[in-house]
Amino acid sequence: MRTELLHQSDPYLQSCTAQVLSREERRIGLDRTVFYAAGGGQPGDVGTIAMPGGPRFRIEETVYAPDRMFVLHEIGEDSALLAPGEEVELTLDWTRRHRHMRMHTALHLLSTVLPYAVTGGQIGAEESRLDFDIPDAGLDKDEIAERIAAHVAADLPVTTEWITDEELDRNSGLVKTMSVKPPRGAGRVRLVRIGDIDLQPCGGTHVRSTGEIGRVEITKIEKKGRQNRRVRLRLVDEAGD
Ligand SMILES: [Zn+2]
Repeated sequence: MRTELLHQSDPYLQSCTAQVLSREERRIGLDRTVFYAAGGGQPGDVGTIAMPGGPRFRIEETVYAPDRMFVLHEIGEDSALLAPGEEVELTLDWTRRHRHMRMHTALHLLSTVLPYAVTGGQIGAEESRLDFDIPDAGLDKDEIAERIAAHVAADLPVTTEWITDEELDRNSGLVKTMSVKPPRGAGRVRLVRIGDIDLQPCGGTHVRSTGEIGRVEITKIEKKGRQNRRVRLRLVDEAGD
């Protein structure tokens, strides 16, 4: 048994019912969830958990159990109410998660605009970054933003597909087109495709098409060692924040 990750097939689900499988101190294990567990540079989701007619508890962090089979939802205060077997309702902090989805998809676009090896990255609701292995930059913030904007304006579809290790082995050309090499050994790999410009293994949550990202600004390009450049970006919301 493992936690069913409902957001992997529908990242737009904002709530779900689930059954409590385990509770260890403030960490609640569930049979299914819409909460993304921290990983791959994307933060764990926050939100609330409640029993029908019962008090509502804040979920402050979501992580994988060490075996990665179960997703653990960490509540702000310990409660014996959330015991194994209980039915609960989960509700995401959707505003934050949706920003993560826009940011995450924007980072995929950034990796196509700068086709260099990615050595790290972090998604945030306010700012996100990717680290690139680039010897010398000559990188221009406005030019990068313009090229991302062109992909946003094209409103390219973002889709996911699953491929088995065997299919990958038979189709080595597919791996060559990917900027990130797929992990082996899990039996199957989730791929995220953006139009015909990007295909890479990724377990994160993304928007359904690039138009939903909106306007993106490159806030900073930092030098992190001789071979490394850190590119920071943020979403520019029309409301003016
Ligand atoms: Zn992704």
